[in-house]
Amino acid sequence: MTLTPEGLEHTPTLDTIIEGITCRIAERSDRGRPADYIPELARADLSRFGIAVATADGRLVTGGDRDMGFSLQSISKVFTLTLALGQVGDALWRRVGREPSGNPFNSIVQLEYEQGRPRNPFINAGAIAVTDAILSGHQPREALGAILRFIRFVSDDDGITINEDVARSEKENGFRNIALANYMRSFGILENPVDYVLGVYFHHCAIEMNCRQLAMAGRYLAFGGRHTPGGARVVSAERARRINALMLTCGHYDGSGDFAFHVGLPGKSGVGGGILAIVPGKASIAVWSPGLDANGNSWLGAAALEQLAKEMRWSVFGD
Ligand code: GLN
Repeated sequence: MTLTPEGLEHTPTLDTIIEGITCRIAERSDRGRPADYIPELARADLSRFGIAVATADGRLVTGGDRDMGFSLQSISKVFTLTLALGQVGDALWRRVGREPSGNPFNSIVQLEYEQGRPRNPFINAGAIAVTDAILSGHQPREALGAILRFIRFVSDDDGITINEDVARSEKENGFRNIALANYMRSFGILENPVDYVLGVYFHHCAIEMNCRQLAMAGRYLAFGGRHTPGGARVVSAERARRINALMLTCGHYDGSGDFAFHVGLPGKSGVGGGILAIVPGKASIAVWSPGLDANGNSWLGAAALEQLAKEMRWSVFGD
């Protein structure tokens, strides 16, 4: 189904393709495993699948459980990175790198070799450092408010909220992230008290969105930093391009190479089972299916994106 401000409309190609993908995904019996290290996410219903595509002509083409909310988790790191770059600019790169890590998202080993400076802003350590940058000079509540406001602004939806149960569940079991944060603090990479930084981090990971909202939120990355092509500016075109580059190289952790190989789009995954994928100049795509692969990336979400990119010839690497 396609919704436009004018009402219902049809563009056979994309609509038909989304319909086909939704049907084929529903038939799959291989569905991955939920993130069980956050008990609140372990209960996810693996039969769920949703997809939404926001196109350059202002349409939203959707399929499956497109209205069902899910935990944003690491996809929130795209928005916190955007916000932090807006606040501190290139100074951010003094404390976090821009290279793929080749390690799991919650790995600690690399931090020791590299003096506490995380490889990139999308692994947990890097995202915690980015959250620290947003927090500096503010109270945790203000920093969290700024993050939520930004996400509501880019998705054009004031109904987006934080799932407090998920935030609490992650906090109670966040031993690895607590270790990462303390380790970075010992190297001076974090400026603020560890429990403040993690409080904000756990809460922004626990933001809940559905596929429609997430596809809308990613538009500024697809349309050269603007809300819509020719519309209001959110960030510069250069910044949008660079965030896309980081999503392509680092957005799926140690599965980033494989995602580029199969899908060929900048993408950011989260252990809630969502993926935000960007087709520069053409579309912002959100998919969700809570079963994950061994790297913590949505198993069927990636499969759906592979089909979509192939059928629409959307890979950034060519037809
Ligand atoms: N909140 C999760 C964590 O810190 C995010 C991880 C993810 O989505 N890959 O472990």
